[in-house]
Amino acid sequence: MTRPVAERIELIRGDITRLDVDAIVNAANTSLLGGGGVDGAIHRAAGPELLAECRTLGGCSTGSAKITRGYRLPARHVIHAVGPVYRDGRSGEPELLAGCYRTALRLAVENGCRTIAFPAISCGVFGYPMAAAARIAIGETTDFLARHDEIDKVIFVLFDERGLDTYRKVMTELVSPPSEQKP
Ligand code: ADP
Repeated sequence: MTRPVAERIELIRGDITRLDVDAIVNAANTSLLGGGGVDGAIHRAAGPELLAECRTLGGCSTGSAKITRGYRLPARHVIHAVGPVYRDGRSGEPELLAGCYRTALRLAVENGCRTIAFPAISCGVFGYPMAAAARIAIGETTDFLARHDEIDKVIFVLFDERGLDTYRKVMTELVSPPSEQKP
């Protein structure tokens, strides 16, 4: 029997490049040719073969994702997702960010990945407010997991304690709401 969705989501603080999972997700840009932040860290850890494969992909549109091998990473695959640059929250950013999570999870299933780790896509240089992004990340993931038992575990990897705290609060809000307080 499939475990409940809440038990298949894990929050950790750390460096996503070190995780031994079937797929890690990269917060890439449309060129897929590397960048700063988590993208730079993933390319450094995976080695030049990753960039060589990325060059064959022809870029990726915002809100979507493409998959490669993981090369020197402990992870078997990298799913390169392109999040939106945050403007005002009313310029299509929520739907584009949701698209990253949906596409990445679909690619994971199509490629037989049962464990997948996400960074906080768009929450660095792209400026997406962490709490709003976490609601989308966790909301899309819980919807997906409820429909797909092919995925055993989704790990959200936060780089700092503040990010982890924000995700913890959103998990409580969306996945395991506290019982109603009596007046
Ligand atoms: P974007 O351009 O999509 O905003 P960034 O790489 O600038 O992407 O940041 C996305 C998030 O990834 C940020 O919250 C940042 O702190 C975090 N981050 C940076 N390096 C790592 C890493 N090695 N592992 C996990 N998260 C990371």
